[in-house]
Amino acid sequence: MSAGRFAPSPSGDLHLGNLRTALLAWLFARSSGRRFLMRVEDLDRVREGAEARQLADLQAIGLDWDGPVTRQSQRTALYDDAIARLTAAGMTYECFCTRREILEAASAPHAPDGAYPGTCRNLSAEEKASKTRPPALRLRADVTDFSVDDVLHGRFHGQVDDFVLRRVDGVAAYNLAVVVDDGEQGIDQVIRGDDLLTSAPRQAYLASLLELPTPTYAHVPLALNAQGKRLAKRDGAVTLEDQAAMGLGPHDVLDLLARSLELVGPNDHVTAKDLLSNFDPARLPTTPWIFET
Ligand code: GLU
Repeated sequence: MSAGRFAPSPSGDLHLGNLRTALLAWLFARSSGRRFLMRVEDLDRVREGAEARQLADLQAIGLDWDGPVTRQSQRTALYDDAIARLTAAGMTYECFCTRREILEAASAPHAPDGAYPGTCRNLSAEEKASKTRPPALRLRADVTDFSVDDVLHGRFHGQVDDFVLRRVDGVAAYNLAVVVDDGEQGIDQVIRGDDLLTSAPRQAYLASLLELPTPTYAHVPLALNAQGKRLAKRDGAVTLEDQAAMGLGPHDVLDLLARSLELVGPNDHVTAKDLLSNFDPARLPTTPWIFET
């Protein structure tokens, strides 16, 4: 059965922009009869207690999900299996570059925008043996770009380089884990912030290599602060807890989010469920939401 998802990284409390993206992911999934799954992306930057607070906040604004919450840290075997398949097909290689070497090489004139230039693509056995640091594992991509279709952006064409599949610390990299999880969980609709639009071509290409179906994408506009920068915790009263301290409960926040999405009028009070019947992706605002505290 088809499904959508929200996939928060438990690095701290969700802010209004994150809650708004979650609301949209829920509306897209539920209004199209899909299941809605919650997947905690805890392969890095985990803050103690953040997952529980994030899930409680999502529930407080009226979102629900199907089945148990999944956690990437418990799905290592799936990632290892995908990496083993790619390796068996000759589609991976070890990379010993330091972050600094990559930055220097990527800014060289022949390297397209920030792409990994393939420094370690063809190392000999001797060259590898002479390395002293542990390697990351990269994809041996046989394309340099790939297209995806996005509900809000139309056809999007973007760069694919030899991106990292397994980090130096042995943990699956974000792009690999997302693709494996979406495929394995039957997720056919990916709604997330448009800061990830440029990752979609890499992910769709990797899905094709793993013979997984490509999901429908909708990369939604982010919330920005008054300076036009991506909303962050330091921008003031941006979490449910901060809003509560100002006397605004989760229902008030939901009203605020719904207004920002032009789903209700200025004086309407709604629940998340109330928004389902009239939800129409074609009428969503296409520009960022500026949140001024
Ligand atoms: N975990 C990612 C984030 O919180 C989202 C990844 C995704 O939706 O593909 O930014």
